[in-house]
Amino acid sequence: MKYANIIVDISLEKLDKTFQYLVPEELNETLRPGMQVVIPFGNRKITGYILELTDTPEFDPARMKPILSLSEKAVPIEAQLIELAVWMKETYGCTLNQALKTVLPSRRRVKSRASKEVPAALQNISLQPPKTLNEEQQAAVNGILSVYPQPSLLFGVTGGGKTEVYMALIDAMRAQGKQTILLIPEISLTYQNLRRFYERFGNRVAVVNSRLSAGEKYDSYENARSGRIDIMIGPRSALFTPFTNLGMIIVDEEHESAYNSETSPRYRAVETAITRGRMAGAGVVLGSATPSLESYTKALSGEYALFRITSRARVGSVLPEVKICDLRKELREGNKTIFSRILAEAIKDRLEKREQVMLFLNRRGYAGFISCRSCGYVFRCPHCDVSLTSHRNGQLVCHYCGLSVPMPDRCPSCGSPYIAGFGLGTQKVETMVKKYFPSARTLRMDMDSTSRKDSHGKILSSFAKGEADILIGTQMIIKGHDFPRVTLVGILAADLSLYSDDFRAGERTFQLLTQAAGRAGRAGAEGLVVIQTYNPENYAIETASHQDYEVFYEKEMAYRRLLSYPPAGQMLSVLITDPKEETAVREAIRLADGVRAHWPESGIRMIGPSAAGISRIQDVYRQQLFIKHPSRKLLLQIRDFMELEKKTGLQIDLL
Ligand code: ADP
Ligand code: ZN
Ligand code: ZN
Repeated sequence: MKYANIIVDISLEKLDKTFQYLVPEELNETLRPGMQVVIPFGNRKITGYILELTDTPEFDPARMKPILSLSEKAVPIEAQLIELAVWMKETYGCTLNQALKTVLPSRRRVKSRASKEVPAALQNISLQPPKTLNEEQQAAVNGILSVYPQPSLLFGVTGGGKTEVYMALIDAMRAQGKQTILLIPEISLTYQNLRRFYERFGNRVAVVNSRLSAGEKYDSYENARSGRIDIMIGPRSALFTPFTNLGMIIVDEEHESAYNSETSPRYRAVETAITRGRMAGAGVVLGSATPSLESYTKALSGEYALFRITSRARVGSVLPEVKICDLRKELREGNKTIFSRILAEAIKDRLEKREQVMLFLNRRGYAGFISCRSCGYVFRCPHCDVSLTSHRNGQLVCHYCGLSVPMPDRCPSCGSPYIAGFGLGTQKVETMVKKYFPSARTLRMDMDSTSRKDSHGKILSSFAKGEADILIGTQMIIKGHDFPRVTLVGILAADLSLYSDDFRAGERTFQLLTQAAGRAGRAGAEGLVVIQTYNPENYAIETASHQDYEVFYEKEMAYRRLLSYPPAGQMLSVLITDPKEETAVREAIRLADGVRAHWPESGIRMIGPSAAGISRIQDVYRQQLFIKHPSRKLLLQIRDFMELEKKTGLQIDLL
């Protein structure tokens, strides 16, 4: 006998309240979570949603009432979202409740207060006629619509005019009475980027972001549900907009890691968009100048249709010239500053011409790697091919396998005693700029300078207005901003993101460098990009300098295949946490042994357990374990097994 757990009230506050009903014989094969059914309730007949089907009765089945029938009404949007929540629970290993809370918009009516946000100011912008698409843009639009609803990857160079393609697709959907969700990374939800959508679609478009109040979000989602708008733009959570006739989901900058949720449910927006698209019969378009290896692999295999934009859209705008500068050579030739001679020359030249400069320090993922200042040699783990990290106790440690070796006092490659970590921050860069270019007006953008609300937007608009000559910053400054007067981009140390202890470090580096390079010369003026590095021959840096994605992809995939890293293999990343270090270690070993004992012959490969990249956070110790196997299904079984066995904190991601 099967039993169904059903909710009758989908307001968020009541999600915990389920009622159990018998599944009648004739519906046994048909019913799935998310479906709307008619049930007896008191002495009425009402509709409810199936959350779960189970073999375990919660009370005496003899007293349990049966489901009467499937609801005749058209499938409501809630049913779709519940089905999606069930999929998220299975895929990301969260509870059903967490998944439902994520996908179902709050139903609580909160008094909406007027927004002081940019979008409100944008409401009154008049409608602008569309640009005439160029050949590549038109081919992409036609192609995407001809394979519809098959998902597409729109692989287009920075400045290629992907936004115009998105807008044409939105038009095509509107012509059929269908709605579109456009995901943009939160950091790119700027006035500049949104303006174009308001110009084109006026009050048919709404924007959500994390700074909106609950009431404002409620209003936006109500407008979506009732059909008052047909375009929703927002960060990953906008994916759950309750459009009843969803035609398309577009994910701009699909490679962005901000699309992966860091809290439970730890969902990945691209994958979830594909799934919602499939469930709703809607198309999905992934756009990027640097597609993730996952997406490009799917495009090559034919799972996604692939469309390319190879040249810049704006008349006269060409891709910038890129020069790689070897910092080892600079040091050898007596230049001890952070600016290579070629970069210093170029900065001086731009200041004279009153053009703008961006200086970029990619510190993300920077994990304290140690390198030789004379030859650029980086200490790496011989087993894992990630860089070793220096610990205070003088040891160099691999965070993937736990290998620990004493820090040598000489470079094993060239014998030089100049071995050190790379201690450059944006503040230091600003000080140096002021010292060497005293006339330059500077702006700095990093975590410190943008911690105040709004300051992020203020810095960008101040720079756009020409109130500064040089913008110094972390990856925040390179995300899709279009500054026409920027003709020089300097990347101060391209290596920084290369030596994080993450197997995706090469991919991140390629993406960052390509995006940064894309900032130069967007408005037709000739652009120059200077990439400073200790590793000019590294393939991520080398291929990024030619903006040669295909060659990068081949080399990176060869490395992933060799070590069975995704997307060449499947991998679980397991984090075991406990306030007592010995407990965390013991539990990690016990879980690993448990998996081995449970699946003795399955060809599972394990790395670790060992201390995680950050081995302690707020006095909680973290042990890490990687489990590789070609079968995703088996890995999901292993995940569920570990969830049942766990005695400490446990966080599992399928990478
Ligand atoms: P991407 O998002 O691909 O980096 P954008 O959509 O920001 O590129 O477009 C870059 C610039 O090219 C923008 O200033 C845009 O207005 C301009 N542009 C796009 N399409 C066309 C077109 N068909 N004709 C002229 N200019 C265009
Ligand atoms: Zn050396
Ligand atoms: Zn190792």
